[in-house]
Amino acid sequence: MPVAEVSSSVRVRVPAKVNLHLAVGPLRQDGFHDLTTVFQAVGVYDEVVARYSEGLSLQTVGEHTDGVPNGPENLAWQAALLLAEHAGVDPHVHLDLDKAIPVAGGMAGGSADAAAALLACAGLWRTGTSKSELTELAAELGSDVPFPLMGGTALGTGRGEQLTPVLATGVFHWVFALADFGISAGDAYRELDRLRAEGTAPEPIGAPDAVLDALRAGDAERLAPVLGNDLEAASLSLQPGLQGVLDAGLEAGALAAMVSGSGPTCAFLCADEDAAQGLSLALDTASVGTGTRVAMAPVLGARVLM
Ligand code: ATP
Repeated sequence: MPVAEVSSSVRVRVPAKVNLHLAVGPLRQDGFHDLTTVFQAVGVYDEVVARYSEGLSLQTVGEHTDGVPNGPENLAWQAALLLAEHAGVDPHVHLDLDKAIPVAGGMAGGSADAAAALLACAGLWRTGTSKSELTELAAELGSDVPFPLMGGTALGTGRGEQLTPVLATGVFHWVFALADFGISAGDAYRELDRLRAEGTAPEPIGAPDAVLDALRAGDAERLAPVLGNDLEAASLSLQPGLQGVLDAGLEAGALAAMVSGSGPTCAFLCADEDAAQGLSLALDTASVGTGTRVAMAPVLGARVLM
């Protein structure tokens, strides 16, 4: 294979996501579920730096590294290999992942790193890969990987990977309460299937129309009561202690509280930035969860930092 023309290093910043609406359909024959979801990119970021190096290697640093593989199981590693194969270049790169997105937290950190690695390696190797090709490669890597490339707010269908941008006006203010344990997304989906089979799951949340209306209006008060996540019941069944976290956020003044994706991170929608800072302080002071993050949304998707 030809040796790629290279830059010395490329740094990419990539956001986490929260699902404002996560409607999970029945289990399909292929083991996946049909999803209708509204993703919003939130201002909690990982950074991925790609540097030219002989062969492929990866290192993880930052606040959240427990349980993150440093080898071929890392989604960012798989992203580099897939791009190299697609572009017909040798995968000579060292990837540094600086992780602030909680691991196995329901905020798609691994998917974000994979999206960032695609963009960083495309820049490093100057492959000239278009955004739409990168998005196709992202969908091959996982259902949640295309969204962090795109950012903003988007409707996801299929397995969540078929994206349509959603008009959202204004800024939304979020607080995230972190946990010192993870929930695997697979376990959460299996638990939801089990609860549905035994008839104890809540009614499915249905279509996202009310969420899309509230986003268009840029109205957090309107968005709060219509946020919905079919996986929340499963996360609460696996980790009942999360109910106390949700309740604590509501008591401390959040407009709404929900489990983020498959959890265990809990997401609180706030009226404005002051309310978000106040809520974060209240939860930290009461030692609810293992720390909080305040974030604005929507934010841009993966970006090369100069
Ligand atoms: P999602 O919201 O997409 O379900 P998540 O935020 O709950 O994902 P991730 O942080 O993406 O979960 O990690 C899930 C698992 O994937 C981790 O426990 C880890 O073993 C593995 N993994 C692979 N690559 C990464 C990565 N770059 N960062 C974090 N975890 C990774």
